[in-house]
Amino acid sequence: QKDFEARFRLPHVTDIFPDFPPIPSTFCLKMRTPIDKDFPGHYSSDEEWHGYINNNDRVLLKTIYYSSPTSAGAECIDPDCTWVEQWVHRAGPREKIYFKPEEVKAAIVTCGGLCPGLNDVIRQIVITLEIYGVKKIVGIPFGYRGFSDKELTEVPLSRKVVQNIHLSGGSLLGVSRGGPGVSDIVDSLEERGISMLFVLGGNGTHAGANAIHDECRKRRLKVSVIGVPKTIDNDILLMDKTFGFDTAVEEAQRAINSAYIEAHSAYHGIGVVKLMGRSSGFIAMQASLSSGQVDICLIPEVPFNLHGPHGVLSHLKYLLETKGSAVVCVAEGAGQNLLQKTNATDASGNIVFGDIGVYIQQETKKYFKEIGVHADVKYIDPTYMIRACRANASDGILCTVLGQNAVHGAFAGYSGITVGLCNTHYAYIPIPEVISHPRLVDPNSRMWHRCLTSTGQPDFI
Ligand code: ATP
Ligand code: MG
Repeated sequence: QKDFEARFRLPHVTDIFPDFPPIPSTFCLKMRTPIDKDFPGHYSSDEEWHGYINNNDRVLLKTIYYSSPTSAGAECIDPDCTWVEQWVHRAGPREKIYFKPEEVKAAIVTCGGLCPGLNDVIRQIVITLEIYGVKKIVGIPFGYRGFSDKELTEVPLSRKVVQNIHLSGGSLLGVSRGGPGVSDIVDSLEERGISMLFVLGGNGTHAGANAIHDECRKRRLKVSVIGVPKTIDNDILLMDKTFGFDTAVEEAQRAINSAYIEAHSAYHGIGVVKLMGRSSGFIAMQASLSSGQVDICLIPEVPFNLHGPHGVLSHLKYLLETKGSAVVCVAEGAGQNLLQKTNATDASGNIVFGDIGVYIQQETKKYFKEIGVHADVKYIDPTYMIRACRANASDGILCTVLGQNAVHGAFAGYSGITVGLCNTHYAYIPIPEVISHPRLVDPNSRMWHRCLTSTGQPDFI
């Protein structure tokens, strides 16, 4: 538990500037304090404005009760049992802030690939900064590259500029992979006089953001670096869900429906849909669950064989014989062991995956030709159509709260942190805690087994 306390402590500007005096928040909260905490509906009539989050407020992630096998329930006080609590710091506006709004220059940058909701987050960061009283807000164009490329100029941002940007997908600021090193980025921050940096991106971007935070500390710069996790794959540790995921599942489901119609309308039709998910199969699993039309769901966490008596292909044969058609949903990172390694990497150093969707399509065609059974195989890759979508309603709300909390976190004086939805509450987490490895689908979880129940697929090993 002690270790947990140290690990989840949020880095703060007073760590390097211990005498820095906080000032009262300029963010006005119109919330009334209940007279009686046990009856939160009863408010005082003298309109006492209050509602800031205390720095010690925490969100309980889980309390795990390890009991002995003989214990009969929670009431059972068993000498062998242990409680383990895991928590994170609660996000939200603080009463005392560590930046004077009129002196702040805030910058926003979006890196990596596209994800529904980027514009919603940008918009909300700008709006909230303005409410605090910040006048200088800029966007860094095309990811970290915008810090070093002299041809790219800062984009001035204001409520007027961002008012309608959430109505379309993509990123107002553009995205990129690769770009300058951390030291060049911090040089650029110094030159530009940036004191708050909001970084929207995935694990790579967050590794960069944490390195920028460290470098700023080394140079004793009073800069707050705040991340907002952008991963359509929903593969960030500790978080219930990341923005864009809900939209992705909804759109993925549409692609599956189309694949089903195509497959069902053809004689011995097979539809193969490849979805996002480099390390984790959340999108494939959830889209399969929601569509109800998937016969085989393949994810990176669960190994499978294509060939052999228990392989995917012989199950497809069975499905054609019994149902007349079949739909396969495969995550991009699944079955990489079946493909030839390319060793190619992208500009950020990520390994470029072989195309498992195309491979399954080709092998399926070959297999049915060899056994002399007619099969009409169609392959759908909706990846880019999904990434470019605008956020749906629930993601829109998630983005709004994340964007606002990112700004509250910066004004509260934190740096090197990221903001997320944890156990249904919004929380701040030190960046290293969420990027050590991707969050995976647990093949022993109930959700994966619900998916297997729904598809009716056997083990392919
Ligand atoms: P996505 O989920 O779309 O892949 P990502 O943030 O992981 O998002 P990357 O292309 O891997 O996307 O990285 C984005 C940016 O972060 C790039 O500009 C890259 O140079 C930088 N970056 C990646 N890894 C690191 C690292 N370990 N240290 C510093 N910067 C990094
Ligand atoms: Mg990445």
